Amino acid sequence: MCEYDVIIVGAGHNGLTAGVELQRAGKKVLILEKTNWPGGQAATKELFKGYKHSVGAWALLIFREELIKYLEMDKEGFELIRPESSFTVFGAEDQPCFIGYTDPIDLANHLAEDHGIDALDGFNRLGSFFANFKEMFERYMHEKPPTLEEIIAMEPDDKTRQALSRLSYGSAIEIIREFFKDSDKHGCIQGSLSASAIDGTHMGPYTKGSAASMSYHYTAGDTYDFKIPKGGIGTVSSSLLKVFQRYGGEVRFKSIVEEFIIEHGAVVGVRMKDGEEIRSEATISTLDSKMTFANMCAPGTLPTDFANAVDDIEYANGYVQVHMTIKELPTFKNQLEFVNGTVQSWLVAYIKGPEQLHKAWQQSRAGQVADDPAVYCYFPSQLDSSLSPGDGTHTCTMFSHYFPTDIPAGKHNEMKSHMVERMITAMEKVIPDFRELIMDQVVFTQQYFEKAFNATDGDFSLGLLHPGQMFGDRPVPGWDGGHETPLGNLYMAGAACHPGPGVTCLPGLNGARVVLEKLGSANTEAAE
Ligand SMILES: Cc1cc2nc3c(=O)[nH]c(=O)nc-3n(C[C@H](O)[C@H](O)[C@H](O)COP(=O)(O)OP(=O)(O)OC[C@H]3O[C@@H](n4cnc5c(N)ncnc54)[C@H](O)[C@@H]3O)c2cc1C
Repeated sequence: MCEYDVIIVGAGHNGLTAGVELQRAGKKVLILEKTNWPGGQAATKELFKGYKHSVGAWALLIFREELIKYLEMDKEGFELIRPESSFTVFGAEDQPCFIGYTDPIDLANHLAEDHGIDALDGFNRLGSFFANFKEMFERYMHEKPPTLEEIIAMEPDDKTRQALSRLSYGSAIEIIREFFKDSDKHGCIQGSLSASAIDGTHMGPYTKGSAASMSYHYTAGDTYDFKIPKGGIGTVSSSLLKVFQRYGGEVRFKSIVEEFIIEHGAVVGVRMKDGEEIRSEATISTLDSKMTFANMCAPGTLPTDFANAVDDIEYANGYVQVHMTIKELPTFKNQLEFVNGTVQSWLVAYIKGPEQLHKAWQQSRAGQVADDPAVYCYFPSQLDSSLSPGDGTHTCTMFSHYFPTDIPAGKHNEMKSHMVERMITAMEKVIPDFRELIMDQVVFTQQYFEKAFNATDGDFSLGLLHPGQMFGDRPVPGWDGGHETPLGNLYMAGAACHPGPGVTCLPGLNGARVVLEKLGSANTEAAE
């Protein structure tokens, strides 16, 4: 007799989503979490007394809003903040800035007035082009998908096949330049699109296959909106935790699962780091494939080809996130002077264009810190006063891709300091006194996320968002997609699974539904 119907490894947002879906369907669920907080790589933490920062994820990008009600997060006070614009991208002084207005009319006016009618036309045509990928994404959002090659081959008309091939296997740059030709006038638009293309990948915008991540980032709406949870990203998981516990679910924090107990080709429970064994009918891993299979399944328990395919998954993904408290909101100068006193100042990004990202990518591959990194810099407490003490001081976070992944032993801290120095220098172009505003700062690279959450190589995608690792090739390329594994009763339901990374709740929800189907649901109404 098992103590639990389902054990879930990991209380990240996907583990908690799976927990809600299973527990309210009448299953007895235990979630085991290594850290002593919920949310994994999407948590809000008091890094400095009186200030809250979203460590890891900070905005909802791919998330579907209908899930707020479905998962009952609204009943636990979950709310979204909708800024009038998601970002203001700036480059050189003579380049027009690109403002990511969330209202399509505002965006259209900005494009036509500041970038020319050709930019507006390009944006509209690019939206229609992305719609091919979005339609494919939505078709398989809750379904076990075939591989990308199979999906494309199954399309009946040649035009759609060609569009999907380019949107999945092409380089971001070849698509971007088709719609935004003028690198001077449209440099910041090109840069903004390129930055979405390289997010969650180990590619530059010129790399074949970089179009896939860009297409993925434009699946949630017609514009690229950053939706901000009130109280920080951690409220996604804290509200899910409350729903899970309201239905009687049990979570144990500071509980590290060491390995799966495997008997006769099936997982029958988990062995904890302290030696305790806990048995269940089904076990769900929300960790990445390497952690799940190579680290937590005894050697020889998996088919050799499968184990080799797990070994080949690409994870390297370098980045730097700097959390700060600042004395006051900055006064912007030069090309960003116009954002002072407007909401457009809440998130500014220095992205001159694709070449800048490409060079940073090449430098990171050579193990060097980028000379001129692209930087996002945002002021969350400007939008959400609950994040700072309310005495005029504020929170600020900077993020940059392409911190080297292959760092010689003993050099990490030195390279981290160089990178932060260059990120601050980039922001000084528009906030000359930025350095003087900073009161405290703490810096996280991929190494922190690897150590804290057992994410292989600190890859927040839990398997890079490369076309060979998407759709039916997720979580393990060549192994039929889906949430089931070669081991009986072991399931996957984290961001390692289709549809992929980000705070989406989708892998957790879809994985839980597969487990419910296998176990038989006690409360089918709630699971629909
Ligand atoms: C710097 C950064 C910025 C990001 N920005 C965004 C963003 O703005 N928007 C967005 O949508 N996404 C963003 N992401 C990506 C997003 O955070 C992740 O893809 C997502 O949080 C993954 O969720 P998950 O629940 O699948 O996995 P995780 O959050 O990794 O959860 C897995 C959980 O399992 C626990 N665990 C691990 N090993 C064990 C064990 N042996 N026993 C018990 N528990 C264990 C971990 O502690 C963790 O809590 C960002 C990530 C980072 C790092």
